[in-house]
Amino acid sequence: QSIFHTLILFFTGLSPLIDKYLYSMRLSDETLVDIMSRFKREMHNGLSRDFNPTATVKMLPTFVRSIPDGSEKGDFIALDLGGSYFRILRVKVSHEKKQTVQMETEIYDTPEDIMHGTGTRLFDHVAECLGDFMEKQQIKDKKLPVGFTFSFPCRQSKLDEGILITWTKRFKASGVEGADVVKLLNKAIKKRGDYDADIMAVVNDTVGTMMTCGFDDQRCEVGLIIGTGTNACYMEELRHIDLVEGDEGRMCINTEWGAFGDDGSLEDIRTEFDKEIDRGSLNPGKQLFEKMVSGQYMGELVRLILVKMAKEGLLFEGRITPELLTKGKFETKHVSAIEKSKEGLNKAKEILTRLGVEPSHEDCIAVQHVCTIVSFRSANLVASTLGAILNQLRDNKGVTRLRTTVGVDGSLYKMHPQYARRLQKTTRRLVPDSDVRFLLSESGSGKGAAMVTAVAYRLSEQHRL
Ligand code: BGC
Ligand code: MG
Repeated sequence: QSIFHTLILFFTGLSPLIDKYLYSMRLSDETLVDIMSRFKREMHNGLSRDFNPTATVKMLPTFVRSIPDGSEKGDFIALDLGGSYFRILRVKVSHEKKQTVQMETEIYDTPEDIMHGTGTRLFDHVAECLGDFMEKQQIKDKKLPVGFTFSFPCRQSKLDEGILITWTKRFKASGVEGADVVKLLNKAIKKRGDYDADIMAVVNDTVGTMMTCGFDDQRCEVGLIIGTGTNACYMEELRHIDLVEGDEGRMCINTEWGAFGDDGSLEDIRTEFDKEIDRGSLNPGKQLFEKMVSGQYMGELVRLILVKMAKEGLLFEGRITPELLTKGKFETKHVSAIEKSKEGLNKAKEILTRLGVEPSHEDCIAVQHVCTIVSFRSANLVASTLGAILNQLRDNKGVTRLRTTVGVDGSLYKMHPQYARRLQKTTRRLVPDSDVRFLLSESGSGKGAAMVTAVAYRLSEQHRL
């Protein structure tokens, strides 16, 4: 045991017994490198014609072929469904001397009974919110091009089609899996009859993020989300994408890395807590990597660990309250609060007191330690999968040192006080031969979705002429 380790035990009063539970959550660099090469294999399977049908990491072609080139312009609507918020945006891109973007946003509620009801009701709701937005913007008489950021795995054979493969995260509306979400939305809009819309593109949030960041940094060729869910996209050489015709140029691939491990390939690092999270989820057996990483599950993971530790008398003098036993009572935003360097311990006291467990100072330190281990594991796992993508980009370019930009968005990445720094540090350690810039998408994925729509619109106009 290292001195550091002994010191932690000393300061937190954690017995080696407690650490035994959490030991399996600490991943050595050796393990992370191993996970990186496992994910590399998954990427290759997903890209290949023979293995794609059975691949767990789906590597979906997006039909987005370039990042914004600065010539886009027009007036667009972007819908953003599937993250922490349902947003509708109006994005005006103009060219005076240089390209400028003006945006207006509204946030709409998506109540749980709508997320878990019928697909018809869900899309009626989306169409209703869009109607409200157009009313407010006084554009109900216009037929503006719409870009639809839909943050779920979709199969596409063109830009304006998205066949939902499976719901993830908090959504589970019936009758949508296997259907084209553009058709469903168009149908809901037609049924209303009070306005018209031209849905030009379905865009995953990772793709929207890459495009948003690509607007400010031409080098951006990766989009990364660490929020309610997790996923990444990147620009792949067309010659490596068996499922799409053509060998020239590049296309953005939505990896859908949340499903990594669904075939059992991460069993050696999944803990009893990960298995319990999966059993209690809306989609058991699916998105196993996502469940170890993202904000939808992190608070709950910590809660399960605290319950077990309390049961063994290692926390709260063994006190277990109904609140502590309630699913969802400990949220990911609490993990973020507790890991703040100055107020963290006070926050821990506040949050745990609300759960009724009467924490001692030592309890607060121990809980902070648990949060750190769980969120650190998440950042480390993302560093390994991201590392595999960066290596692929480097090999594709045939350079020894990769210089690139990763566009990032997501509530966990943005709100957690240490997450970004840890992710960047581990990534640089795992892929030392690279200069990677992490660029936060300040304006979400809506701007990027509008850019994709702008390009699609320009191409369709050219087509019509
Ligand atoms: C979805 C992805 C999405 C990610 C982040 C995952 O659950 O499958 O499509 O990009 O969440 O929102
Ligand atoms: Mg989002």
